[in-house]
Order: sequence, then structure tokens, then C-alpha cells
Amino acid sequence: MISDVEKRFRTRPKAELHVHLEGALPLEFLNLLAAAKGREPIMPDIFAFKGFEEFALCFFATTGLLEDEEDFYQAARAFMQMQAAENIVYTECSFMPAFHVKRGVAPEAMFRGLYAGLREGMWQHNVKVRLLFSMSRMFGAEAAEETFAYIRQFPDNLILGIDLAGMEVADSILPFAPYFEKARAMGLETVAHAGEFAGPDHVKQTIEILQPKRIGHGLGAALDDRVCRLLTEKDIALEISPSSNVLLGAAASYEDHPLAKLAEIGVPVTLNTDDPVFFSTSLSKEYSLAHQRMGIDMACLADILANGFRYSFLEPEEKTRWMVHEKKEPHHA
Ligand SMILES: [Zn+2]
Repeated sequence: MISDVEKRFRTRPKAELHVHLEGALPLEFLNLLAAAKGREPIMPDIFAFKGFEEFALCFFATTGLLEDEEDFYQAARAFMQMQAAENIVYTECSFMPAFHVKRGVAPEAMFRGLYAGLREGMWQHNVKVRLLFSMSRMFGAEAAEETFAYIRQFPDNLILGIDLAGMEVADSILPFAPYFEKARAMGLETVAHAGEFAGPDHVKQTIEILQPKRIGHGLGAALDDRVCRLLTEKDIALEISPSSNVLLGAAASYEDHPLAKLAEIGVPVTLNTDDPVFFSTSLSKEYSLAHQRMGIDMACLADILANGFRYSFLEPEEKTRWMVHEKKEPHHA
């Protein structure tokens, strides 16, 4: 059953700032690919994982189907089609090049397919996408080194910046500090996952050591008012993905999720899907869940939608254009 809120938010132009291309490939697309390669189909129950480890297995099983230029081209097109169907007019999409190369994909073929598919999608659907190259904490500085080598070797104006992801284990931030600095010197934007499973200290350290402009998830911040104040003072937005947080156990339930508290005390928040296919969700469904189960009223929901543009890396005039558009037709119902 699709709720009225979900329907209403599906038609509204939205920005999405935290979505991994690898977790946003429709099952039908993955299974067409599996069939073409003579592999076993992916069963929908693979997405009924419990916890991060099973989630990681799901990630490996689905991304394992992406091997050559044509696969990445079609994957990028399938991703863009899905964003367009949700009326997401602007996406900052995370993609993990070093991970794919590590599992044997040829970098040149991967980037050629990816860039061509995204461009084709932008042209076909009249929506905009930019890439954040994601580096996993699990692969350490080596992954960062490789990622920067790819940025130099396969430059493209689709590349917006870098993102730090992976399990938040102790001492996993510091090795990336020089790379965040280097990114800024190169004119690239920086974001980092933090406080998904770890507490407020990890969010604080990430802000102080890496100085990212946004934090992926950041739920942990809600446990410490001082860290919340730091986010507010520095105007650093959190990229909240409710279904991801609940299904992976970062939040005990939608009702226990700190989104409403964070919004109420003035921490900038945005809504996102993280990996929509893995979590059987869509951006409009996340808006609906926020309203129906997380205590976010319609006025606050409209602010969160505007935040998607406000805290994006779009040029100021483009941001203003979308936010003015929003004001003109704030409520369809
Ligand atoms: Zn993420």
C-alpha cells in the first residue's frame, strides 16, 4: 500500500545526497545481467538480511555481476531511470571504484561504462547526477591512494568529490586525513559516513580530523548535545536514511530513531535511501516513514526536502532555483 504522503512526495522534485549506486540496482536489472551471463538468479530473500555482515554478503553477490564496460553502462542507466521515476532531479551518487578494481574489474572499462551510462541517463531523463568516490575504511589509505590515482587518470566533470565509508572501527579516520586535505586542494568536495553504529565521539573526531561538509548517517551525534551543537554551529548536515538505519540495526525502530530530536534542536538533516534496492525502499517512502512513524510533521518534512537542495553541492543559483520552485508549489494536496 502506497500512502498519500508517499504519493505526494513522489511527485515533488527532490535531491538525494546519500545513495550508493551499488545498492540501487533494481533486482530485474541484476537478474537480466545474471541470465545473460548464465549465472544463478538473485533471489529477493537475499535482501532480508540481518545486520551489517549479511548486508555485506548481499553487496558482494550483487556487485559481482558488474564486470565489463557494458555492465557498468547498463547499471548506470538503470540507476538513473530509478532516480527519475522518483522525481529525484539531482543526485550526489556514491560509487566505490577501488572496490570494483580489487575484485578484478578493469578500471578503464568501468569508468567508460559508468560515465557514458550516467550521461545517457541525464540526457534521457533531464535529471542531474554527480559522483562521490567512496573509499572504505576497511581498505585503509591504500584505497584512498588508488581512488586519487583514478581521479587523475580518468578525470570527468561528473566527479564531485570523495566519501569515506565502511565499518567505523577505532583509528580508522586518521589515515584518510591527508587525502581529505588533498581533495580540498584539488577543488573536490568531501563527505564522510560517521556515527552510523558508533557514538558521538566518532562523529566529533570525523568532523575535527577530516572536516567533511556533510556526515553520512550521524545518528550517534544525537547522544551528545555538544556534538549536536558542533553540527549546528558548523552547519554540517546529516544524511539520514531511516530504513537503512532500522534494517541494519543502527536504530532499534523507526519510532526510536533520533531524526525528530535532531530536527527539533536545529541540526540540519536530509532524507536519503542509502541503498534503496537492498532496503526495499524509495526516497518518497522514506519521507512517508518519517511522517508516519518518526514524528516529523508536514512543515518539517518540507524543510527537510528543501535541505536536500540547500546542503547539496549545487551552484548557489541552481539551489535557489529549486528552492523557489518548491515554495511556489509547496503542497499538492
Ligand atoms: Zn551509505
